[in-house]
Amino acid sequence: MPNSKPQLHWSQISMYTKCAEQFRRRYVLGEILPPGVGAVSGTGMHRAVELDLTRKLETGELAPEEEVTEKARDAVVGAFDSPEGVFLSDDEKAEGKDKVKAAAIDAAVVCAATHHQELAPLAKPRIIERKWVLDLGGFPFDLSGTIDCDDGEAIWDWKTAKRSPAEDEAEQSGQITMYSLAKLTLDGEIPTARLGYVVKTKVPKTVVLETRREKREFAPLVRALERIADGIDKQVFPFAASMAPRPWWCHPKWCGYYKTCEGVCNKVSVAV
Ligand code: SF4
Repeated sequence: MPNSKPQLHWSQISMYTKCAEQFRRRYVLGEILPPGVGAVSGTGMHRAVELDLTRKLETGELAPEEEVTEKARDAVVGAFDSPEGVFLSDDEKAEGKDKVKAAAIDAAVVCAATHHQELAPLAKPRIIERKWVLDLGGFPFDLSGTIDCDDGEAIWDWKTAKRSPAEDEAEQSGQITMYSLAKLTLDGEIPTARLGYVVKTKVPKTVVLETRREKREFAPLVRALERIADGIDKQVFPFAASMAPRPWWCHPKWCGYYKTCEGVCNKVSVAV
């Protein structure tokens, strides 16, 4: 019998915890916004990595670097030229779409080349873009996600970042906990988990953070998910704008709903 429960993936959980109103606009009201420039560059690198590691899985060798960077470039151009387009902040609009597009292509190409040279050789791919769905039992939704690269012995998640991650980033990552729980459920073992970063400094560099979860670390995740499920069910959607201090992501540069958000713009009349 097909599973009819809705699925909740990490980006939704992360969005709900950062701003539940943003979650409401996107997933309850269905107001889908185009991706931002950073997300489009990141997707460009991910498409290139997928090609590179698939070639390694099939032939034992990575793809030629030009083919990898071409894939990154094509993904960014495709996003900018698609009917959906790319979300530009006011600053980016002032800079000009062509200039922003060129910079996004450069960023994706540099990240793809850096990954190809430094991170891709470290991975021994057995399953690429491994999709999983987890029924936690008694939950109104299933968890779902995609493991970027499953080595068999380790799972990898590829990231791009503007600055080097904190040393304990992998230790603190809820995403790693959730993906480790998925791997335990799928394969009966808790994996080594690695975050492979391309850091977009002037001269790009890579950082690999490795961690391994203990079984006892899964219970707090499940409790947190129960609260989120309860919040969604009861339609509890607080504004990030109400946090003190207001978080950095509650800003017109990072939140596409900012200009129409009742939590920040004072465009609604409040009856008192
Ligand atoms: S503007 Fe702030 S409060 Fe409103 S949806 Fe965006 S992040 Fe949330």
